[in-house]
Amino acid sequence: MPARLRAAVRTIADFPEKGILFRDMTPILASSELLRIAVRELSEPFRDLNITRVAGIESRGFILGPMIADVLGTGFIPIRKAGKLPAQTLNESYDLEYGSDSIEVHTDAIRPGDRILIHDDVIATGGTASAARRLVEKAGGIVAGYSFLIEIQDLGGVPHLGSGAPVLSVLPY
Ligand code: AMP
Repeated sequence: MPARLRAAVRTIADFPEKGILFRDMTPILASSELLRIAVRELSEPFRDLNITRVAGIESRGFILGPMIADVLGTGFIPIRKAGKLPAQTLNESYDLEYGSDSIEVHTDAIRPGDRILIHDDVIATGGTASAARRLVEKAGGIVAGYSFLIEIQDLGGVPHLGSGAPVLSVLPY
């Protein structure tokens, strides 16, 4: 089944900047069948891990994240770029190639002891997902797993996450 997903991912060279091979999942989203397969692949390994919330990372983690939450029978938490969430937030910064960025979560979105599944479409260097892990832990939650559709293996993101929780990447590149 992942082979069918892989065949649908579109690779675009030099987007958004020169030297980046952008992995585009929109052809998967456009097919009801592939969409169902993708959500199943991203969710099933976590069925017995007592996940209490799925946290999706802005912005493409907002597309499949709520569907994964639905399969797991949990709620969804948005992790957003700084300055977007209206209520009180916690913040974490992470380094980019040039400069840094930060992400936020509502202070009351995660309850102490919540078992959080972190989701994004792609893991590259792992900087964003690591910041999401720190954010969840700062809020008193436990990262119980990571679920990515696509992993850019050369960039070493998965080892960067440490060995604390299971990491699923459906399509390694
Ligand atoms: P990183 O923090 O380096 O793991 O980057 C992850 C974030 O950048 C994710 O939110 C991805 O959506 C996006 N991203 C990084 N590299 C790519 C790529 N080659 N294709 C598509 N999205 C990417």
